[in-house]
Amino acid sequence: MKVLVAVKRVLDYNVKPRVKPDGSGVDLAGVKLSMNPFDEIAVEEAVRLKEKGIATEVVAVSCGVTPCQETLRTAMAMGADRAILVECAEELQPLAVAKLLKALVDTEKPSLVILGKQAIDDDCNQTGQMLAALAGLPQATFASKVDVVDGKATVTREVDGGLEILQLDMPAVITTDLRLNEPRYVTLPNIMKAKKKPLQTLKPSDLGVDVTPRIRTLKVEEPPRRGAGVKLADVAALVDKLKNEAKVI
Ligand code: AMP
Repeated sequence: MKVLVAVKRVLDYNVKPRVKPDGSGVDLAGVKLSMNPFDEIAVEEAVRLKEKGIATEVVAVSCGVTPCQETLRTAMAMGADRAILVECAEELQPLAVAKLLKALVDTEKPSLVILGKQAIDDDCNQTGQMLAALAGLPQATFASKVDVVDGKATVTREVDGGLEILQLDMPAVITTDLRLNEPRYVTLPNIMKAKKKPLQTLKPSDLGVDVTPRIRTLKVEEPPRRGAGVKLADVAALVDKLKNEAKVI
């Protein structure tokens, strides 16, 4: 059983985003970029399936600029067997990524595709769902537990007010939630081993996909600064302010 895992290179979650002076987007110059945290969870889950003897091969895929190779090497240091970079300098929106992944699903024929539930840079939460629709595959989003038995995946999802358990025929698409697992740290020997693992590079045109953006960003701006708080003498003063100033009661 082959597992395809999508990994996106994003602004590291510890870095405070800076907006470009012209408001055209987030400034990525000279800042640390890392694997999207939900994708680390996706790689970890795929590698655990391999360690349990359920998966036979884990293939990591990233779509984007040449340095995404580093993110793919990290995925291979975590345990992925090989990697595919769909190299593209243009901005890639979720629909374009979903189409690229669909083309790879057609050629690689994985039994499972695992993605993060969302990328922490664009916060779209769309790619997995779009991929499932384009490929005509069953999907389970926000997985907090995955069991694969007899060619079926049983996925526990976190939904409002509880847990939902779905059983999917495979091939299927799963997106990961935070509580699915705790990704392992990569060790130096595994980083060295990952350097020797195969990394294939393709262009979107090799997959016959047009990645032209469909959505235009008009402006990106910092959230307004929070004003200073005030101390009130008593509850009556608070109620008065809520009623007459904030007009919320
Ligand atoms: P999004 O829909 O943008 O929030 O992304 C959801 C998930 O889709 C991510 O966690 C990744 O697993 C996958 N994904 C999105 N963009 C890319 C990309 N450029 N390369 C590889 N995987 C991606």
